[in-house]
Amino acid sequence: MTKLQTEQSAAKQYIEHVYAQLEQIYGHETEFLQAVEEIFLSLEPVFEQHPEYIEHNILQRIAEPDRVVSFRVAWQDDNNKTQVNRGYRVQYNNVMGPYKGGIRFHPSVNESIMKFLGFEQIFKNALTGQPIGGGKGGSNFNPKGKSDAEIMRFCQAFMTELYRHIGPDVDVPAGDIGVGAREIGYFWGQYKRLQGAYQPGVLTGKRPGYGGSLGRKEATGYGTVYFVEEMLKDIDQSFYNKTVVVSGSGNVAIYAIEKARHLGAKVVACSDSSGYIYDPEGISLRTLKEIKEVKGDRISTYVNYHPHATYTEGCKGIWTIPCHIALPCATQNEIDLESAQVLIDNGVKVVGEGANMPCSIEAINLFQNNGVLFGPAKAANAGGVAVSALEMAQNATGIFWSFDDVDAQLHKIMKDIYANAKGCAEKYGFPGNLVIGANIAGFTKVADGMIAEGVY
Ligand code: GLU
Repeated sequence: MTKLQTEQSAAKQYIEHVYAQLEQIYGHETEFLQAVEEIFLSLEPVFEQHPEYIEHNILQRIAEPDRVVSFRVAWQDDNNKTQVNRGYRVQYNNVMGPYKGGIRFHPSVNESIMKFLGFEQIFKNALTGQPIGGGKGGSNFNPKGKSDAEIMRFCQAFMTELYRHIGPDVDVPAGDIGVGAREIGYFWGQYKRLQGAYQPGVLTGKRPGYGGSLGRKEATGYGTVYFVEEMLKDIDQSFYNKTVVVSGSGNVAIYAIEKARHLGAKVVACSDSSGYIYDPEGISLRTLKEIKEVKGDRISTYVNYHPHATYTEGCKGIWTIPCHIALPCATQNEIDLESAQVLIDNGVKVVGEGANMPCSIEAINLFQNNGVLFGPAKAANAGGVAVSALEMAQNATGIFWSFDDVDAQLHKIMKDIYANAKGCAEKYGFPGNLVIGANIAGFTKVADGMIAEGVY
């Protein structure tokens, strides 16, 4: 066997060995293992060229979070009944900066989901080029149908435990599914009360005027579109006149739709967890914002304003609508192999992930094997957390930037992430494969930092 072959097999063996160990311990944590597998599948060429990563056992170290804080959240509902939920904060890796990542409130939240999101966040945050490590938090609390007072009491109860684990230099939470500026405001008030100090850099996604950054609300959606715009440029295309389907109708989806429209696209569909709307004339952004941001209503009510549009129960059908560009911006595993095939059959050219891990590994492979350009989440949706880092910078200096300033920085960050992922894919022998490129670019940055820090 030549030296190269020996090293190749050592790299593969090492990856398989670490994965098998994780599978044995965390076999029940399916989402976590899926996120791990997606990264691990990209790393063989890296370990071939950098045996020092194997020597330092980086893979096993990086896959284990620094700590998982799991806690009880007891709170009183409007009937004065005591309710109990589980709260989590996964502090995954702080090599690049303080742990950083959102808080998710959704009934599906468990340790596996928290770990998959925290693990992804390490590499995403490294890709932004900002000084932020990786973390994630949340609760299985279901905000749907809760009164504003209940949301406030829950957020306060959640922060009563969390506050002792976070800080501007320690761990900086933000929003995610079910957590927006309102919840961040309640977290912030409680943190301030308990800490007895005014430290706005402890949370991001705060309201502008109250320590928040202009452009944060728009950042994930705009960033996804900026990233896809770079992908399109490479094939001499643009958003202009393209038909786009965006799943979801939260922050990410709304602002992806807004930016895609700015660039001349027609966005014909979006969804919530109950179903989807299809408006062949193009979704009215004004109506969408009225429904979601003002009224907090279901997406089905869209057809009351626009009777020519249709509403269909169930989410999966949204991917049967023919489009050039698909932007899954709802949640994990929303595009499986079957939906990917339908999208391909209907002529999709580009898929950009606005949500975290919205496509299964099989779906990604199918897209890539059929020549569909694929922008993976940890690169394509990094704009939100990137602007969170800009919010931290503004909090640290007390100087606040204009919307245009923040947006220009976001645009540059997304272009840089694209160039970095594309360059890494080429360097390691997989030109055009942004999954491999983004994984390697994020991983090597953190791995080098881990080696420099030494083992502890
Ligand atoms: N939840 C977002 C994400 O998945 C943003 C996190 C943050 O701003 O810290 O990246």
